[in-house]
Amino acid sequence: MAPHEAVWPAILQEIQRNVRSQQFDTWFRNVEVADLSPQALTLNVPNTFYHQWLKRHYVDTIQRAVLTVTGSRPSVEFVVRAAPASGELTPAATGPAPAAHPGPPPVVSRPEGRRYYPADWTARLNKQYVFESFVSGASNAVAHAAARAIAETPGQAYNPFFLHGGVGLGKTHLIQAITHQLLAQRPELNLLYLSCENFMNHFISSVQNNEREKFREIYRNKDVLLIDDIHFLCKGAREVTQEEFFHTFNALYNSGKQIVLSSDCPPQELTKLEERLVSRFKWGLVARMDLPSYEMRLAILRKKAQLRGRVLPDEVLHFIAENIDSSVRDLEGAIVKVVAFSSLMNKPIDIELTRDALRDTVNSIAATITMDDIIKAVTAHFQVKLSDLQAKRRTQSIAQPRQIAMHLARTLTRHSLEEIGGYFGGRDHTTVMHACDRVRSLVETDPSVANAVEHLTTQLRNKR
Ligand code: ADP
Ligand code: MG
Repeated sequence: MAPHEAVWPAILQEIQRNVRSQQFDTWFRNVEVADLSPQALTLNVPNTFYHQWLKRHYVDTIQRAVLTVTGSRPSVEFVVRAAPASGELTPAATGPAPAAHPGPPPVVSRPEGRRYYPADWTARLNKQYVFESFVSGASNAVAHAAARAIAETPGQAYNPFFLHGGVGLGKTHLIQAITHQLLAQRPELNLLYLSCENFMNHFISSVQNNEREKFREIYRNKDVLLIDDIHFLCKGAREVTQEEFFHTFNALYNSGKQIVLSSDCPPQELTKLEERLVSRFKWGLVARMDLPSYEMRLAILRKKAQLRGRVLPDEVLHFIAENIDSSVRDLEGAIVKVVAFSSLMNKPIDIELTRDALRDTVNSIAATITMDDIIKAVTAHFQVKLSDLQAKRRTQSIAQPRQIAMHLARTLTRHSLEEIGGYFGGRDHTTVMHACDRVRSLVETDPSVANAVEHLTTQLRNKR
């Protein structure tokens, strides 16, 4: 199998996660991969109509999927499989695609500028972003609880709800989870979820088209308005757009309608935004989402693997949790890479394969952390001596630091089990393996061990 054929299923899977299933069936089931290099992805499509449609609507989605799976962002090229027979212009005419394909009539595509239009906003929701797939923990507990409450009884307790946090920490996931639940359980409510950019574009075009009244009607009639990435309002918006948003906000707020906003920074840091708007954001609940802890990273990795129908060995999950602590998006990217790499190499997922798959991310770290670093950090942290770690003694006070040191060596360096055993008084590889297993289970049951492992890992990685 050529390499591109092996990764293509992973890329397709990633695309599938990001588009509606009907759209996926219509536009991607018939597409084959012709070639893939870091520079270009060439897709083999049934006819020119596919070519035009995919080019117009899905290039970005495809590129993002390739980036997630392979780490590079190639251009997307198309080759048309066969010259279209007369009249054979629509996907429906090619057979496998569903007869009643969705979307506007073929050939005439929607003007670019109308993509944000509220009428089709549910199409832009990611159907994976639901509460069931969201892992809650200390780093997002308040945000999660408030989101749940709002999805149950919008407009009551937390209004407005202002959600903020860094990139890839789950803001979009959570805000869409509220949207999904309301769509499913409160059909009588008039809701609208959209990105701030879409809100701004919609406003600008309503000004251009003399449709400001219509615009107002659309937004001010909502029972629930959810706007993602509201920080764009101060980065890209003109005053008049901010002004319009301010009035929209007031109109909804004053009639007790729920407003949910997400942002990459807290309200007070939304500079350039009018003070009166900033202070209104603080009227309700402001909740911050933080980086997940070690245990939470593990829980998230488990969930993400499970959603992909995979069970990854514990050792692999711990390895990823220990080496990737930047964002949930990066954790997810790691799983995607490992799974793709395993099918590419046709090998089972184990720690060696994981290391190779995540080489770019992890190696620079592993290369610089030495056995000495680990021993120094562990002896200092637990106030034990090197000779204790190497001795045969098995008292709990020594055994646990020793096991933790072995576990850290396993996840943060490239030493083999035998080599690690060698550093600790010549223990054999099964002892090291057992130690690592033990620490992994303690991390999940004993907070003091979890804290120690997390603290030591951070300390070791930061000394680079
Ligand atoms: P943000 O909008 O804050 O930049 P996203 O909501 O896009 O982040 O999240 C990035 C990725 O991480 C998404 O695929 C999302 O499903 C996942 N994610 C983030 N937080 C969680 C969580 N707590 N549980 C499960 N998945 C999460
Ligand atoms: Mg987002």
